[in-house]
Amino acid sequence: MIEAITGSDRNTALIKWYGNEARNLPWRVFGDPYLTLVSEAMLQQTQVDRVIPKFEAFIDTWPTVEGLARASTNQLLAIWSGLGYNSRALRLRESARIIADGGWPTSVSGLQELPGVGPYTAAAIASIAFGVDVPAIDTNLKRVLSRWHGEPLSGKLLEEFAVGSIASPAGLWNQAVMDLGATICRPTNPACGDCPISRWCADPTVYEPPVKQSRFKGSRRELRGALVRASVSNGDLYAAGEALGRSDTEISETITALRTEGLVD
Ligand code: SF4
Repeated sequence: MIEAITGSDRNTALIKWYGNEARNLPWRVFGDPYLTLVSEAMLQQTQVDRVIPKFEAFIDTWPTVEGLARASTNQLLAIWSGLGYNSRALRLRESARIIADGGWPTSVSGLQELPGVGPYTAAAIASIAFGVDVPAIDTNLKRVLSRWHGEPLSGKLLEEFAVGSIASPAGLWNQAVMDLGATICRPTNPACGDCPISRWCADPTVYEPPVKQSRFKGSRRELRGALVRASVSNGDLYAAGEALGRSDTEISETITALRTEGLVD
């Protein structure tokens, strides 16, 4: 079992800093699980500044989980357009349908049964919206905690260190660490001189670069995005694929896959 170093002093300084410096993000209405669910689904593969306008348009269109449950595929994908990984939108609507029928699960394990909700998103919703004291472990939190500890943490050790380091309410603590990681304890060149908890940080040089994403240009992902955009605007799917220089065989295989996933009619 890893011990957290003087966790309470560090947490006091961290939460005080967060009180003054928290990012003003539109989904930060404490206790609203729907806003947290939508934002976490969008943030899974997309940067915060690209998510903000999409999130606002999404919530303007479907302010409640019941409204999202009734959304048409075309409108859903049109609003989602630009975020990529469109199947996330369908899984989000599927989750909304389950919640609209049966209510919100409030435990981490219950939330993880929703489509597209993994351990991190479940822990984020449970802690932020339902007051469960559990750390929400993503790559951001992993990097920050590894530096606190002084060596790269992963798996069980990471989980133990996170549980040992957490403050209650964990929803606040999770968001404070998220903001510290996003604004000060950045992947490269962390601003340790501005860091509110530098006294309790073992090694600022700890950093494991994330696995590089494969190239987008020329990828199947690029073609899928173009075909979905053509479909929601009632355009010609083959013309959209040909504009990217793709063969008829590749276009037709991709359309078949998108149809099977329910992403194009
Ligand atoms: S001192 Fe530097 S490395 Fe440590 S938590 Fe603060 S910003 Fe991150």
